[in-house]
Amino acid sequence: MLLWFFIISLIVIIIQLAVINQKAEKIAGMIAGKERSELANLIRLRDAGILTEEEFQQKRKEYESWIAEKGHSDERKALEDLHEKGLLSDEELNKKLEALEKVKGRGEGISGIDLAEIKRRTSYKDAICYAERTPDSWICICGTENKLSDRHCRKCFSNQGYVLENFTKETLWR
Ligand SMILES: [Zn+2]
Repeated sequence: MLLWFFIISLIVIIIQLAVINQKAEKIAGMIAGKERSELANLIRLRDAGILTEEEFQQKRKEYESWIAEKGHSDERKALEDLHEKGLLSDEELNKKLEALEKVKGRGEGISGIDLAEIKRRTSYKDAICYAERTPDSWICICGTENKLSDRHCRKCFSNQGYVLENFTKETLWR
């Protein structure tokens, strides 16, 4: 009886070691191989439980810098790249491109002096526009439109109250 218990335990341990080894090999293969750069594979591996959330985030960063290196640093190109790889549907791509155009449009309505003042006071070099309160949203200085219920910007984490009090067209020089 005791012997059987011992044998079964041993088999379980051997199987577990094999599984752990397989995971380690897959991760090592990803790091070394060309798969590393594919966001789709990363998501698949994370969903399969092979990559932890932490490992996934790390690999995703590597993927993003790979895109940047390949000259895809432009957001439009990055979106088209995701679309090409099947990660964005046609409809999603069009929506994202529209949103991108909106953000770029916002940056056209501000003078250089005002923008420099916002950047100086926030130390945020990616600021592009005034903060703005719309009837049902707020626009951050990074150009992102956020829900009123969002206390911090989705993109740059600026505080809603802070940017609306200090960096709207009306409040900037007050
Ligand atoms: Zn922002």
